[in-house]
Amino acid sequence: MRTDFDLHIHGKHSGGVSPKMEIPTIAEEAQKKGLDIVGTGDILNPKWLRHVKEETDEKEGYLEKDDIKFIPTTEVEDKDRIHHLIVFPDLKTVEKAYRDFQKLSDDIRREGRPRIKADGEKIVEIAKKHNCLIGPCHAFTPYTAIYGRKDSLKECYGDQVENLDFLELGLSADSQMASKISDHDDLVFLSNSDAHSPWPHRLGREFNRAELSEESFEGLKNLFEGKEGEIKLNVGLDPREGKYHCSACNSCHQKYSLEEAKEFEWRCQECSGTIKKGVKDRVNELSDKEEDYNVEYLHLPPLAKIIQYTVDHASPTTKTVQKKYKAFNEEFGAEADILVDISIEELDEVDKEIAESIRKFREDEIIMIPGGGGDYGERIIPEDEKEKENILEEKSLAINCNYREY
Ligand SMILES: [Zn+2]
Ligand SMILES: [Zn+2]
Repeated sequence: MRTDFDLHIHGKHSGGVSPKMEIPTIAEEAQKKGLDIVGTGDILNPKWLRHVKEETDEKEGYLEKDDIKFIPTTEVEDKDRIHHLIVFPDLKTVEKAYRDFQKLSDDIRREGRPRIKADGEKIVEIAKKHNCLIGPCHAFTPYTAIYGRKDSLKECYGDQVENLDFLELGLSADSQMASKISDHDDLVFLSNSDAHSPWPHRLGREFNRAELSEESFEGLKNLFEGKEGEIKLNVGLDPREGKYHCSACNSCHQKYSLEEAKEFEWRCQECSGTIKKGVKDRVNELSDKEEDYNVEYLHLPPLAKIIQYTVDHASPTTKTVQKKYKAFNEEFGAEADILVDISIEELDEVDKEIAESIRKFREDEIIMIPGGGGDYGERIIPEDEKEKENILEEKSLAINCNYREY
C-alpha cells in the first residue's frame, strides 16, 4: 500500500507551538497535504494524550480521525540534550511506558518533549521493553542531536545501537549526506517535518513515501525491520538552505572549506570573527565512505513555498499565494501528488508559471547558494540554461563553500 507519512510533529501544549496544533485541524490539513499517516507527537504529555483520546477512535494499530491514521509518537530529550523519536504500538503501551519515563523526568507532566535523566542507551532499553520503535531525531542538528554531541551512534546508544530502527535526517541533512557514514547502512532514513503548526507549508514539509504491508504500527515495524514493505522516497528541503550548512564566519558569513578553516584555525580572514563548523563539514569529518543510497531523496519545498518563490512574495500566507494554492488543491487534491506525481502538462492547465517552477524543482534545476555562519541559503530559480551557467560561474566560490580556489 503506497503510504505518505510524517512521524514527527508537536502538539499545542509544547513550547513555541501554534494553538491550532489540535487533532481535528491536523487531520484536515494532513488530507490537503496528502499524508496518510501522521505521528501524534508529544504523546507522553498527559494533557495531549487526553486530547488525542477524545479526538480519535482507536483501531487495531492506529488511531483514526477522518481519513487520517495517527500513530502515537513522542520526541524525548536525554541527559546529554540529544533528541530521540519514539513510536508506540498503541495507547495502552503509552501509559505503561509513561510510568517508566516519569520516574526519570521532572517535566514530563508539562512538556511536550520531556527531558529524561538517562542516556540514549537507557532510553532505547525502555522503548524496546515496550516494543516501541526508536531512532535519533534530526541527527545532524548542531545543538540537540546525536552528531552535535557525539562522534558515533555507538557512543550514544552503547550496546543498544543494534536496536535502532531508523535515523531521522532533519532539515539540515539528506540521504546523500547521511549515507557517507557506514554506521547508517542498515537504518531506514526518515524525513519528518518536526512541524510546530498545521499548515501544509509546515506539516509534512518533509515527508516519507513507502510501500507498507499495512497502514499501521505493524506496517511501520515491518518496514523498519526489513521484513515487509519498502521505503520509496524521501521528500524534503534542500539542506543547503540551512543556516549552518557550510563552515562560515559567524559575523560576516564568509564561507570556508574544512581544509581552509583548519588552516586558518577557525579565524575569519576577512573580519577575524569565528568560523562556525557547518553540517556539511561535520558529515565530512565523520564520513568513512562515498555517498551511496538507494532511496531517492527529492529536494522539494512545500507547494505554498514554491508558489511564494515564483511570485516573489515575502511569505507563503499572502492572499495571492493562498489563492493559487487553493486552485491546485481544488483541481488535483493532495499536495504530495501535485509535488511528486502529476505531470507538468496537467499542472500547466492550472498555472503555467507555477507548473514550470515545480518542474525545475523536480529536475533539480534550482541553484542553491548554501547557508553558513547563521545565514540562510539563497535559492535562485534561473530563467534558462544560459542564465544558470552564468550564475554557477560567477558565484562558484560561494556555491562550493570555498574562500579561495586552489
Ligand atoms: Zn528535536
Ligand atoms: Zn568574518
